[in-house]
Amino acid sequence: MKMRLDKYLAEMGVGTRQEVKKYIRKGRVTVDGETEKAPECKVDPQQKICLDGQEVSYEAVEYYMLNKPSGVVSATEDTKDVTVVELIGDRKRKDLFPAGRLDKDTEGLLLLTNDGKLAHQLLSPRRHVDKTYYARIEGNVTEDLVPLFQSGVDIGTEDAPEMTLPARLVILESGPVSCVRLTIQEGKYHQIKRMFQAVGMKVVYLKRETMGPLVLDPDLKPGEYRPLTLEEKKKLG
Ligand code: URA
Repeated sequence: MKMRLDKYLAEMGVGTRQEVKKYIRKGRVTVDGETEKAPECKVDPQQKICLDGQEVSYEAVEYYMLNKPSGVVSATEDTKDVTVVELIGDRKRKDLFPAGRLDKDTEGLLLLTNDGKLAHQLLSPRRHVDKTYYARIEGNVTEDLVPLFQSGVDIGTEDAPEMTLPARLVILESGPVSCVRLTIQEGKYHQIKRMFQAVGMKVVYLKRETMGPLVLDPDLKPGEYRPLTLEEKKKLG
């Protein structure tokens, strides 16, 4: 399957599309040993493609950072809603899945991959991977919630209590609608909505900003995505 040289390099995480175009035009890229200065040149992943003499080989494992928009479901297939996988228009692999779930109305950072081992490491409840969310809350969020969330909240039912692990709450703005940043270590079903519900408040907007070492790229608008960079992949281990 042939594709543009700039697209190939960007997909392999060498840099953004704009960055790799510059590398190519500067003569830093070779295809089968010949310098190639045209970003639009079509290449085959079987060819030997190098940046600064270092081979950028085709990877069978893919990693995409998506800024999930509201209204899309965190699934691979759905009979009535658009799925996050369908948003990755130029995916090469058919076996991509979202590493974790965000509610249909939640926005923000979602990793899509076909690397099952990595997904397991990020999602395993035993690993306590931090996830930070920005949220708008109907109601006046006051400082007394900080130690309460730190000590854990019961989001279960009378018959089946369910305590959360310590969570870090930072109040950004307090008022009839408050803005907060909340870091949790687990991913219980509707966790943040249920934490605020437990204290009589309602989440009206929720966006994930970080997951472990991954930080949502501020250049990605809701619905946009990009491959992870080499550095991001290294951080994930
Ligand atoms: N907590 C929620 O309530 N919803 C999400 O989508 C993520 C965390």
